[in-house]
Amino acid sequence: MSDDSWNSGWRTSTPSARTGRAQHVRGCLFCLRHDGGFRSVEHIVGKSLGNQARLVGAAERVLTPGVVCDRCNNGRLAELDAELARFPPIELMRAWHGVPTREGVLPVHRAGNLTLTASSRTERILYAHNKKAFEHIGPNSFRSRVRTGGPIPARRYARVAAALQKIALEFIHHDHVAAALAFDPKFDELRQVVLGHRRSPGWLNIFKNCTPHGRISITYWWEPIDGDGGTVIVLADIFGVVLATDLLRRKTVADPNEAPPDWHVPESNFITWTDE
Ligand SMILES: [Zn+2]
Repeated sequence: MSDDSWNSGWRTSTPSARTGRAQHVRGCLFCLRHDGGFRSVEHIVGKSLGNQARLVGAAERVLTPGVVCDRCNNGRLAELDAELARFPPIELMRAWHGVPTREGVLPVHRAGNLTLTASSRTERILYAHNKKAFEHIGPNSFRSRVRTGGPIPARRYARVAAALQKIALEFIHHDHVAAALAFDPKFDELRQVVLGHRRSPGWLNIFKNCTPHGRISITYWWEPIDGDGGTVIVLADIFGVVLATDLLRRKTVADPNEAPPDWHVPESNFITWTDE
């Protein structure tokens, strides 16, 4: 597909909530329909991860009305944002940093052996469920092994991967808006996967050694591969929790050690599933 054809679908560069129309001739970025309403702003990274104007000001990252339809925005995409925010290591970091939900409520993280909550933006409360939750290692110093309280099913990892894929496709639109690259048909199957309309194998890589911090960064890059559409890796660092997945090559592998080298990172948990 040439650069010119990427431009051909562009209807207007001045979207308006008043028109309630899709900006692109293909319709909504995810369902590719025109009948879902186009009056809402879509937050690329969910509000519950801190992407709120009152917290980050002009650094808020949104898609203007007309890109994502209201039905997708308020339905499946909101569910995926919530799934990512509830993912145990991320929820733990949200509670630690006191990042309020979209309703302004400070988060509570209930792990298997402890509960962490922020009583204010500066004070944290840790409640141990048993003696093993904390180990004193010195004055005013302790170590804790946080347990999730049970195994996380593969379908939940798949939804976390879909949440990252949603963020990455929206950033591609955000960053390459004039070229409308995000509407390229090579992403059509991905749109179905993100919306949960198509079962798909996939993988999610969770890095083991993380350094907690208060920032979020999303990085994606395209690598051409001979004979197919290539691969678009997304790497998300959310408060120090580092996750990776792919937008195009979602094949599963039985043994992580047999994964292609660019999929498998040492010191990481490589999770694959056959379908959702
Ligand atoms: Zn839609």
